[in-house]
Amino acid sequence: MGNPSGRYNKKKEIELDLFHCKGCGACVEVAPEHFVMDEDNELPKVIDSIVEGEHDDLEQAMAICPMACIQIKEIE
Ligand code: SF4
Repeated sequence: MGNPSGRYNKKKEIELDLFHCKGCGACVEVAPEHFVMDEDNELPKVIDSIVEGEHDDLEQAMAICPMACIQIKEIE
């Protein structure tokens, strides 16, 4: 769909609410560039919390998470 307004070029931070996460792994499935399963506690962790540009896989992870644990916050 392009990027006519440039708003997707802003830096964003991925926030993961592990308190409500049930470790289903769906976020790791749809966005393996951003999430990895931590074998110690069987919960996902964010690979690099600061992202730039458009990330359809992150949008998909947000949409698919059954507990609404994933938020993307603009930081500038
Ligand atoms: S999709 Fe949501 S509930 Fe499932 S592991 Fe990821 S953050 Fe946790």
